[in-house]
Amino acid sequence: MVTAVVGANWGDEGKGKITDTLAEKADIIIRFQGGANAGHTIKNKYGKFALHSLPSGVFYDHTTCIIGNGVALNIPILCGEIDDITGKGVPKPRILVSERAQMVMSYHILFDQYEEERLGGKSFGSTKSGIAPFYADKFSKIGFQVSELFDTKENLMEKIENVCDKKNVLLEHLYHKPLLEKEALYDELMKYKEMIEPYVCDVSAYLDKALKEGKNILLEGQLGTLKDPDHGIYPMVTSSSTLAGYGSVGAGIPPYEIKKVVTVVKAYSSAVGAGEFVSEILDEDVADELRRRGGDGGEYGATTGRPRRMGWFDIPASKYGCRLQGTTDVAFTVLDVLGYLDEIPVCVAYDVDGEITTDFPTTSKLKKAKPVIERLPGWKCDIQGIKKYEDLPENCRKYIEFVEEKIGYPITMVSNGPGREDIIYR
Ligand code: GDP
Repeated sequence: MVTAVVGANWGDEGKGKITDTLAEKADIIIRFQGGANAGHTIKNKYGKFALHSLPSGVFYDHTTCIIGNGVALNIPILCGEIDDITGKGVPKPRILVSERAQMVMSYHILFDQYEEERLGGKSFGSTKSGIAPFYADKFSKIGFQVSELFDTKENLMEKIENVCDKKNVLLEHLYHKPLLEKEALYDELMKYKEMIEPYVCDVSAYLDKALKEGKNILLEGQLGTLKDPDHGIYPMVTSSSTLAGYGSVGAGIPPYEIKKVVTVVKAYSSAVGAGEFVSEILDEDVADELRRRGGDGGEYGATTGRPRRMGWFDIPASKYGCRLQGTTDVAFTVLDVLGYLDEIPVCVAYDVDGEITTDFPTTSKLKKAKPVIERLPGWKCDIQGIKKYEDLPENCRKYIEFVEEKIGYPITMVSNGPGREDIIYR
């Protein structure tokens, strides 16, 4: 059976923690999209880890972790993470990398930086990990697939020449930067070949067999619905689909095998970088208090350390986020953080030019949306350590049930702390 773990919002919902928790009963965990531009923070018996590339299942010795074809594969980062976790006492994980995955090249990272520099104040707030140039090249058909590392030098050089011809025009005339050199690119590819060879696999064939054997498979998404290039806040989105449906493409499995979609929804909102964020808290003191108390050690980017923008729970965004994912189960996370508030504001609808709506509009309308806020009573205590739903304070249950009713999808898991064991099943 395949279960997807995906985000409903802007990312940072706590997917890593939920995947790590569900991975206890999984055989295989797959990353199917995105790259090393965002991170999952996981806390378990080995310590606290920020993973950018490895799936969140790597901490168990019964799991196989897979980098699917849909991922932007940064080989030095992947291999560095493997070394890092094993250096901290985690048993060496079983890792497979799709031979159809494409590689982030050093020039993708440079082009990302150059473009941000060129755009100046109008930049997209990229993490400069090369993700947008990588996917642009993939779909322009000039990317390098892992399988090509095993092709002849002659064939590779032919492709490298074409890449250099195209890239060097931009480097010379648009960015005024040093040009790419063919031999250096070939050497880079050969270095990657040596590093990745032990992990390369025909992943879709492997998964086909695993499915026939009845294995439990988790698809781990990066970011959330609102960063999806089609359904999110375009153009302030990421460059690969963040939807569970894309799990089928990015892992190479039939769509009908995805039986469960666990959508991770955070009990308040946060976002990194620019883009529409209707429920954003505009009072900096109020936002800063939530930021400092948020997540596990504050709401700061796992990759960049940037302070995240903070907001109240957003019903239109989360309802939409869950719908697009095809949610069967909601995991409602970081609820414990709200225990300090007397009253908890919730954005229940948007006011767009005087029209009140709970539908999530396209970006141009979203720019005009104002939040309609309702306040729920707080519970004023620490709920970490509680194991049963009935033992949660009444106002806390009321908050959960209010959200569940408004978004229209069942909250079957409540996360009340950063650890694996901090989970209440309903
Ligand atoms: P992801 O990218 O969706 O995995 O999310 P992040 O890792 O960026 O953010 C989640 C943060 O919240 C991490 O620091 C987690 O350890 C932490 N976290 C996850 N679930 C909970 C929870 O229920 N309570 C608290 N306090 N922290 C949590």
